[in-house]
Amino acid sequence: MRGWDYRSALSQLEESQWLPLEVVKKQRLKLLKKLITHCYANVPYYRTQWENISFSPEDIQNEEDIFCLPIISKDTLREHYNSFLSEITPDYEIWKTSGSTGKPFPFCLDKNTIIYNTFGNLARGKRWWGGEEGNPEGMIWSGVSDVSGTLTGHLEAIKRRLSWELKNIKLIDVYSLDLLSIQKGYEAFQKHQPLLLRSISSGLYRFCAGLEQLGLDGKKMGVKGAIFTGEGFPESQRKFVERVLGCPTICEYGCTELGVIGFECRHKSIHLSHENYILEFLKDGRPAQAGETAELVVTNLRNYASPLIRYAVGDFVVPSARVCECGRTLPIIEHVQGRLHDSVITPDGRTIHGLFFTHLFDKYDQVHQFRVVQEDIVHLTIELVSFEHINGFVLNDLKNAVEKQFGPQVVVNISQVSSIPTSARGKTPWIISKIS
Ligand SMILES: [Zn+2]
Repeated sequence: MRGWDYRSALSQLEESQWLPLEVVKKQRLKLLKKLITHCYANVPYYRTQWENISFSPEDIQNEEDIFCLPIISKDTLREHYNSFLSEITPDYEIWKTSGSTGKPFPFCLDKNTIIYNTFGNLARGKRWWGGEEGNPEGMIWSGVSDVSGTLTGHLEAIKRRLSWELKNIKLIDVYSLDLLSIQKGYEAFQKHQPLLLRSISSGLYRFCAGLEQLGLDGKKMGVKGAIFTGEGFPESQRKFVERVLGCPTICEYGCTELGVIGFECRHKSIHLSHENYILEFLKDGRPAQAGETAELVVTNLRNYASPLIRYAVGDFVVPSARVCECGRTLPIIEHVQGRLHDSVITPDGRTIHGLFFTHLFDKYDQVHQFRVVQEDIVHLTIELVSFEHINGFVLNDLKNAVEKQFGPQVVVNISQVSSIPTSARGKTPWIISKIS
């Protein structure tokens, strides 16, 4: 970070996590009014859109007053990206989105959103687990080595390595998780004794699977909490990682455009950082009840470089009315249920969310990882990864369960494979649809 200090943001966040909702709402309303005024004056997309619907910044008296504004999808953002850029630009950096819902695209984040929402929220979450700045930490991440082959890519990789080294973070490249790199990484982590290990979900799983294969004792690395992020993490993989490392796994939920939205506390609640976002949970366009699966729509109150107002992140979550034993007033979601696009179409035209497969395979402990490829409307290819041989009876049972759900016309090809390929951004997509 260009000398941007997030510590004052962190101390504000440390305080606000205990504040009553009414107090936080008041602070949010101030931020919202300022943001809406900025967007109306300086951001072409909003100015045009709001003029068309005769909306003006004075219309904002409560935060609910933005609920009449149109929702922005990822596709809209990608398509009209230039008109989301502010005409007056504060200090900003350009970050690449993860591309988990299509091609990665560069996104402008200004200083405040980076220090509050990206670094501040992350640092606060880590502190819930005893992780202080400068503590030894491990990471399994992308962007450590240059995969683009360009000079800029090369320099960026060097810069990242240096910056992480300064922060006492030891890194393993998620792109090269072969057994040799895993062995080397294990030795480095054993020396480093990282208090927390943070990783892209599938990278964490693959690293632990490698340790198991090599017969190495994961507990010797001294990890006290393993943070997974960037992708869903099936329960079976979570349990497996916890067994190998001998420590809890911790959900960090967020995305490049918005920062770290949620973080799991020691009482297993995923707390939302509601101080700098307005968070909406929608089901079929109406506000969802606690316990219902809902689409998450977010207004980021801090980013002035390319502001997002009512942005549909593309994720399903389950909001909760629970009050957490940890005493924080931050709202809770029960699950992040994966992305909207993670679904498959049946031959008779129904949409089945990928969670169907997660739940199905969770019943079989030996299945650690899977991928479903929709080849066309009729053909599904399902690949399963396991350390043990999955026998024909189990494969047949699984095949039957899928056929029952998808109807008589579906043709299911199910098999055990040794591994599942990783995308250019270091992730492992679990649902792939070849239907355009
Ligand atoms: Zn809690």
